[in-house]
Amino acid sequence: MTSQTPDSTRSPDAPRRRLFVTTALPYANGAFHIGHMMEYIQADIWVRLQRMLGNEVHFVCADDAHGAPIMIAAEKARKTPQQFVADIAAGRGAYLDGFLIRFDNWHSTDAPENHQLAQDIYRALRKAGLIYARTIEQFYDPVKGMFLPDRYIKGHCPKCDAADQYGDSCEVCGAVYGPTELRQPYSVLSGAAPELRSSEHYFFQLSSPRCAEFLRDWTHGSGAHGLPRLQPEVLNKVREWFGVDEAGRGGLADWDISRDAPYFGIEVPDAPGKYFYVWLDAPIGYLASLKNHFDKGQAAAHWHEASRTTQSFEEFLADPAVEQVHFIGKDIVYFHTLFWPATLHFSGRKTPSQINVHGHVTVGGEKMSKSRGTGISPLRYLDLKLDPEWLRYYLAAKLTARVDDLDFGADDFVARVNSDLIGKYVNIASRASRFITQHFDGRLGYAGATDALREAAQALGDDVRAALEGREYARAMREIMAYADRINAAFDAAQPWVLAKDDARRAELQDACSRALAGFWTLSVLLAPVLPATASRVARELFGLPRDFVWSDCAELPERVAAYRHLLQRVDPKRVEQLLEPPAAAAPAPAQAAGIGIDDFSRVDLRVARIHDAQAVEGSTKLLRLTLDLAEHDAHGQPRLRNVFSGIAAAYDPASLVGRLTVVVANLAPRKMKFGVSEGMVLAASGDGDAAGIFLLAPDSGARPGMRVS
Ligand SMILES: [Zn+2]
Repeated sequence: MTSQTPDSTRSPDAPRRRLFVTTALPYANGAFHIGHMMEYIQADIWVRLQRMLGNEVHFVCADDAHGAPIMIAAEKARKTPQQFVADIAAGRGAYLDGFLIRFDNWHSTDAPENHQLAQDIYRALRKAGLIYARTIEQFYDPVKGMFLPDRYIKGHCPKCDAADQYGDSCEVCGAVYGPTELRQPYSVLSGAAPELRSSEHYFFQLSSPRCAEFLRDWTHGSGAHGLPRLQPEVLNKVREWFGVDEAGRGGLADWDISRDAPYFGIEVPDAPGKYFYVWLDAPIGYLASLKNHFDKGQAAAHWHEASRTTQSFEEFLADPAVEQVHFIGKDIVYFHTLFWPATLHFSGRKTPSQINVHGHVTVGGEKMSKSRGTGISPLRYLDLKLDPEWLRYYLAAKLTARVDDLDFGADDFVARVNSDLIGKYVNIASRASRFITQHFDGRLGYAGATDALREAAQALGDDVRAALEGREYARAMREIMAYADRINAAFDAAQPWVLAKDDARRAELQDACSRALAGFWTLSVLLAPVLPATASRVARELFGLPRDFVWSDCAELPERVAAYRHLLQRVDPKRVEQLLEPPAAAAPAPAQAAGIGIDDFSRVDLRVARIHDAQAVEGSTKLLRLTLDLAEHDAHGQPRLRNVFSGIAAAYDPASLVGRLTVVVANLAPRKMKFGVSEGMVLAASGDGDAAGIFLLAPDSGARPGMRVS
């Protein structure tokens, strides 16, 4: 690995690496979950390393804006798809800034650059003879007037007859089938029985021998610096997809790249009423965001120094030295290792140098599921004042270059952060700097030769760089903490608290503390990609540098230290428990308690909801059945509405409630009632005597479904 990566000690005029780095584009129909943050943090650490090495990096992302689910969610929210996506995009900054993730640009696949690029690429593929049209039969919703994606059709499973199964697979017996095989199919959107209608679709000929030959070479080949493009386990998966069974079936299938209007997407050139399937234009959004970054950047003064370039987007990508690196999750490997390189190659463009695939995040050993209330909300993490650098370190300490899932365990999180970051790392500075400021006015001094110290730091720096470069973050963190152990042991062995009592041993005291602080300096440089805020404070406040650390600082020896100021807190395990409390299990605050703390209050998740529907409940004079929109989505990214029974029937005509906003206790445990399950509680005021009545709470105008009330 080390010999294959560029040398950090090269001369200043040695060529810098030129890197175009992306994470997967998040679908713009919901908030980020912990899995998004893991991917962004993994990529951000890698990018920060490259920046510290002086390489040119352009790190971009965008919202994936198109497709039927967004069109339908927008309609429900009574917004245009453009407004719906813009509102989602407006919320992204809180997460990215909150977790110190620094993209150079954030764009949208609905931006003009992407329309242009997607159409250009399509035209080039057509010219290359890889596009054809074919008529297919598909379910059509006669009420909504649109063709239905598989996930919008439900019915009885053709194998086990379970009701309410999706058009592609049965969640009861696990059978996989086509939507036309469902019994008693109905449209999820209108409830109508769908009709089979034929429509002309456009296909990309992935099965062509040209594509197969190119992809076999490409997937097995190496990108930049002789590094393989794909991880071994990813390559194995791709080989399976290439495979053909004894009956001659299998191999790569052609790809349906068009959808019929109405569709929120990019128009297929020369084909009125046809749009690109969202997965055609989504990865092209990487290029669109990069183009937007370059186009804006020519005028912008806030660029990162290492990213400064006077080239255009086209000139940059035309440079064969430019490396294109994608970080993605294992669920979208097919698109990124087959469709994406093939569309790029056959439209005459640069293909990716590296596809870095990671696994999913599990919590306490369980796959995340909103309906079961598992998972970690990144915003709740920040709301609870948990330090973003704890999570960055924790993930780094567990991430490898493999595709394995990563488990977030509460005890493990607390133990790693408190024992590594506080007990081993920060501890060095807090102990050693005190003697230097008290006895030596902040001056460091080394007795005897420092060659061995610098060599050890350099060797560690090289190892950690190679590990981070190869995304073996866990190994890098282990090496860093082993070095911290050695520094702490040497410091303890020198017994500075004894030396400090003896004026004749001042030089020994200064030396022991200086070596410990030099070690702390080295550790801070190497941890900077993971702990950027802390490392920046160490560089500027503790060691008085006028800048942040760069990688080549790692074997330098500091000469002065300022008085120690608190760097990182210990984790309070109670806060992590709060983070992991499933919303449904959170107990309501005790009634009439003698004053509750803010923590008690913050356990109640109050949200703005739009009343999507209100119905009288047969057999009850008190209850109304409310269908509420809290801007939520299920595990498949589909919009999810809640059913809540509310005792307001005496005060409200159901029809008058539809469309109104109100406030809901969103994390109340679901309650099974005679008429069905109630998934929350609507807030209303009521009084006695003259003030008797029921008054539904409503937020001021401008509030939107899903907003937190606090
Ligand atoms: Zn079934």
